[in-house]
Amino acid sequence: MKREPFFAMVIALVTAIVLPLSAQGTTAHAATLTPSSASLNQSKTFYRYNARALASRYGLNYASQTALTRQETTKVYVASNDSQIKKSTQLAMAYWNQKLGRKVFINGTKSSHTLTIGMTGKNTSADAWWKPAQHQISLEQADYNQQLYSIRNKMINQNTLAAVTSANHRIQAYGHRIANRANFARQYNAYRATQINQAQKQINSVKHAIVAQHIDTKARTFKYANIIAHEMGHSLGLQHSANAHDAMAANSSTPNIYNYSKVKASKNGFNTLDKTDINRAKLALKVHDALN
Ligand SMILES: [Zn+2]
Repeated sequence: MKREPFFAMVIALVTAIVLPLSAQGTTAHAATLTPSSASLNQSKTFYRYNARALASRYGLNYASQTALTRQETTKVYVASNDSQIKKSTQLAMAYWNQKLGRKVFINGTKSSHTLTIGMTGKNTSADAWWKPAQHQISLEQADYNQQLYSIRNKMINQNTLAAVTSANHRIQAYGHRIANRANFARQYNAYRATQINQAQKQINSVKHAIVAQHIDTKARTFKYANIIAHEMGHSLGLQHSANAHDAMAANSSTPNIYNYSKVKASKNGFNTLDKTDINRAKLALKVHDALN
């Protein structure tokens, strides 16, 4: 039967995608706590007195708050001419400001800023990191360059999987429907050939559109908005979260980033800051205010 490679391909793709997702649920770490609204409405004396206890309870590190002014704002300067990095930065700032309910991140200038975002060529294992002593978020240039191709391939693969899977479902359903017909084989094979042909056309047209409409570049800009937002979280005093879905998780990811349709339709990317991230940041800002 010629249909085996087709089904085998589907199974291989589905297995590859499903396994990492189910593995996410089995984290051994205790959850990172979300500060309650009561703990966000205490006196300066309370925060000053309990600073150390709050740090250990909620995973805060005040030593990394070097970009905060005494007004609890951060003046951001992008030391790069890359327009997409500038866009990612503006999105990351908006993600925090929207959910914090005030402009903690504001635009600085070359001569007046408290945080710099710049590219480096150090070839480390990280794509980005917060350097509190230098007041700098560094982005690894090689990784940034490579990401475009990686995102493009993953987006193509995700779309291919979707097209193949749905063609497969239609073919199976059709097979069941005509199972008792005398000319089963001929009709089934004809239907199957048509479905595969249509799926192939859809796959090729999306493949072309991803590059021609710069959907891969757009996805990378969104991905870096999340990467920069994560690093900005460190600059507010947040250590990594043990909760896999938090933006401050060590291996935080951007959902939808490989989804061609969703990236194409999105204007402002995918803000993954959740209540735990935001309340921890609010608390870190309260303590900064009390200590400075
Ligand atoms: Zn981190």
